[in-house]
Amino acid sequence: MIELSDKEKVRYSRHLLLQEVAEQGQRQLKAAHVAVVGCGGLGSPALFYLAASGVGKLTFVDDDMVELSNLQRQILYKINHLGQQKSKAAGKVLASLNNEIALFPIAERLTESNIEPALKGADIVLDCSDNFATRYLLNRFCLAHEKVLISGAAIAARGQLMCFDFREQSPCYECIFPNTQQSEALNCDNAGVMSPLLGVIGAQQALLAINVLLGHHQGSHFSYYSGLSMSQSIIELEKDKACTCCSEK
Ligand SMILES: [Zn+2]
Repeated sequence: MIELSDKEKVRYSRHLLLQEVAEQGQRQLKAAHVAVVGCGGLGSPALFYLAASGVGKLTFVDDDMVELSNLQRQILYKINHLGQQKSKAAGKVLASLNNEIALFPIAERLTESNIEPALKGADIVLDCSDNFATRYLLNRFCLAHEKVLISGAAIAARGQLMCFDFREQSPCYECIFPNTQQSEALNCDNAGVMSPLLGVIGAQQALLAINVLLGHHQGSHFSYYSGLSMSQSIIELEKDKACTCCSEK
C-alpha cells in the first residue's frame, strides 16, 4: 500500500484526525485517479477540493480559453489567465496549491475517438460539462467501463447532483434525460447562473467522489438544490426499462 510522507501527514492532518478518513483513507485518496471533464464553474471548485484533499492523480479536460465573462464563477482563473487555455491555466493554479499530486491536463474536446485514452485510467469521472453531447458521451463511456459517474449541473438558481454507480444496477443519465434530439441545452452562457451555486454543486461533486473512494457512498444518487430556499431534496430514481442506452445491460 502506498505510504504518506511526513510532509503529507502534516498537510493532510485534518483528514487524519477523522475516523472517516484517517491514514488509511488518505492513502486511498493518494492512490486514486479522478477525471474532471469541464474546467469551468463546476470543475473549478471540484478540482480545487480534489487537489487540496490529496487525490493522487487528477485528469482534467477542457478545450476552451479563459474569457472575462468566466471570472464571475470559474474561480480557478485570474485576470492574468485571460486568453490562455483553461486546462493549462488550471494546471498551473492546482500545481501551486499541491505539488505532491500528479496533474494531467488535456486541452481537447472529448469525442468518441479520444475519450478512451483520456479517461481509461480514472477510477471516477466527474461530469462538469455544460452540454448534452458531452454528458451523453460520458454516460455511455462510464456505463461500458463500469466507472462511477458523478454529474453536476447548475442553471440560474437551481442545481443538480447525480451519481451513477455503474458497478451496481444504477439507472443511467439517459434513463433520466432521454437523448431526444430536440432537447436544446440551457447553459450558464445563455441562461445565466448565480455564481456561488456552482461552488455548492462543484464542491458536492468532489465530496461525493471522496465518499465513493473511501467506501462511504455506494449506488446512485440524485438531488436538487435550490439556491433561493437553500434546500436540497433527494429523489429516488429507477432504471428506465426501455432506456436505449442501458436496458441491455
Ligand atoms: Zn439508462
